[in-house]
Amino acid sequence: LASQQKTSLANSTPSLDVKPVDSESTEATTTPPSAQQGAIGSGEQKDESIRLGKSFRIGLSGPPGVGKSTFIEAFGMYLVSKGHRVSVLAVDPSSARTGGSILGDKTRMTELSRHDMAYVRPSPSRGTLAAGYDICLVETVGVGQSETMVADIVDMFVLLVPPAGGDELQGMKKGIMELSDLVIVNKSDGALVDSARYAQIEYTSALKFVKAITSYWKARVIRVSSMGGPEAGVGLAWDTMKEYFDIMESSGELQKKRGHQRKIWMWRQVSSELMDLLHEDTQVRKMATELEAKVLKNEVMSGAAAHQIVEKFMKGMSSS
Ligand code: GDP
Repeated sequence: LASQQKTSLANSTPSLDVKPVDSESTEATTTPPSAQQGAIGSGEQKDESIRLGKSFRIGLSGPPGVGKSTFIEAFGMYLVSKGHRVSVLAVDPSSARTGGSILGDKTRMTELSRHDMAYVRPSPSRGTLAAGYDICLVETVGVGQSETMVADIVDMFVLLVPPAGGDELQGMKKGIMELSDLVIVNKSDGALVDSARYAQIEYTSALKFVKAITSYWKARVIRVSSMGGPEAGVGLAWDTMKEYFDIMESSGELQKKRGHQRKIWMWRQVSSELMDLLHEDTQVRKMATELEAKVLKNEVMSGAAAHQIVEKFMKGMSSS
């Protein structure tokens, strides 16, 4: 139990493997073997600016059923066809309480996970982001704190939404719109095209009321069909992301953002290590258990209990 508590999302560095990686440290390793072999699906134009010595981390969020897996499969295959090496990680919000772990299954993106230029859902280990994949897609289901966590890791945050406005939009937390650099209305095909258009208009106007994250980029809304090939929007999605990357990179804004993220993660690490120490302290643990019981019965205010725990911990530290 203690180990579960101490890995709670609020105070730990959840899924250590998805913590931000120094872009500098990845640079030496980001030239894929296929750069020598020639791109898969040859004849395709390659995106040299990103592939050569740079890494781009893209967060993808959206409600269950919106088509994240389908999009990532199509998008990932498109990227590998352009000579990129793509890794896909997923933050599992259902285990957010125990640290937002990485999903282990490879079943959903079947084609992409078999591709030798792609790395889908690695098992957790430190530094996987630095392992020579120039584009890293970090997927999360739009639940709880997982989006914020992902937004603090990635260079660009992309929100996938279904082809209907109105109710969905009403229910959409403002917070997630604020995090988004790009909104993709998925399933813009067949009978759904009209409602996708409608959603695009709705989200575009909703974004007008959302404060931009950076003065260098205004969030956009595009329509995509993940099932229609590159021409149906997957290509546009990449062009838009690449445009974002180029603007952010050349303006120095991306480096600033990554620096800021590293700062955030430094403090998360501090909280996490402090919590570890606190939970290892038997005196504190004993006291905390008693206080928990009292807080449950409303005999002690939570703030006061927290204060006592911290005091106990500090006393223990200073006497050791
Ligand atoms: P996830 O839960 O967000 O990962 O969603 P999935 O990728 O599993 O997709 C949910 C359902 O939507 C599946 O039945 C997909 O076939 C369907 N779907 C995904 N993308 C599209 C699309 O672009 N167009 C249409 N028509 N269906 C889609």
